[in-house]
Amino acid sequence: MKATDAHRVGIIRDDRFLEHKTGLIHPEHPNRLKAIHAMLDRDFASGLIHIQADLATMDELELVHTPTYIKKVMKTAEREFTHLAPDTPASNMTYLAAWLAVGGCLKALEALMTGRCDSVFAFVRPPGHHAVEDRALGFCIFNNLGIAARKALQGFSLGRILIVDWDIHHGNGLQQLFYEDPRVLYFSSHYLSSYPATGDWEETGQGDGLGYTINVPIPKNMEDDDIVHCYREILGPVVRRYRPELILVAAGFDAHGADPMGHARLTERAFGRLTRLIMDLREENGRPPVLLALEGGYDLPALAASVHEVLDALLGKAYPGEIQETTTPAGADMAARAARVHAEFGIWTDAAVAEVGAS
Ligand SMILES: [Zn+2]
Repeated sequence: MKATDAHRVGIIRDDRFLEHKTGLIHPEHPNRLKAIHAMLDRDFASGLIHIQADLATMDELELVHTPTYIKKVMKTAEREFTHLAPDTPASNMTYLAAWLAVGGCLKALEALMTGRCDSVFAFVRPPGHHAVEDRALGFCIFNNLGIAARKALQGFSLGRILIVDWDIHHGNGLQQLFYEDPRVLYFSSHYLSSYPATGDWEETGQGDGLGYTINVPIPKNMEDDDIVHCYREILGPVVRRYRPELILVAAGFDAHGADPMGHARLTERAFGRLTRLIMDLREENGRPPVLLALEGGYDLPALAASVHEVLDALLGKAYPGEIQETTTPAGADMAARAARVHAEFGIWTDAAVAEVGAS
């Protein structure tokens, strides 16, 4: 981590997100946030800026979602328990949590754009990266970060936003929203064989957005050094050449080795290292603000430990021991394949770079 003047780190934390009840056996459970809250109380009692979440306006929800779908979500208030999708249950207070998850991300965005914070982690639920315009999908109801990105484009007149999605599942909703839009560059690493089975290498965008979607399907046995190497090789040139004015992170932690959904092998340290990488690139490239929003992550101790690592990185805390950033064959393979696929677009790599990367 390079030295900076200050690390003003904000968080969105609100007990109303616990009111989204999903039943006894659903993995996307209020206890996820309770585990994060307990960790915050224990380890981050001071030093973080608390930002008050507030409801988004209907116009803001409609930046992404159709009025008919928004009405459908609001109507779940009339039933004690129902489903918006087969895997996405809703209790009678779910509408409020979902609405507030969007509003929380928008309050976080405001705190970043007004310079109050350098980075904000929004601990919201339900998650958002699978949700599409007119449908709940994969535990997600409103597309929290998708709406934040649209708000940044329209309300704050930004022209270049980078979304980094390290959840083990592909953020099909985020990809779809910005597939034809070069103002939002979407980068995701994920299991291709897991839900929702989208995000193959060749899905690179369309029309004006061609080349602005970067998908990296990851191998099953990937470890910390592999993912950090891959991200370093790809995100370095992406940030240097695209020069985002805002960085959004779909921060899911289901690639952790202990996660019951992911079956990957990362440790919590990987998420801290990825955050440090992003913060170092930010520092070297005009200091764009960074907004992270909670997505997946279903093993409670692993989730809390991973969030702890991310917050340490955002705060610029030094590791007790120096981390040796290594290169690995798996990391090189992933980065080289992405570079080959994207060489023709020339946005963050070009043919010559791709050849070097592939050697
Ligand atoms: Zn996930």
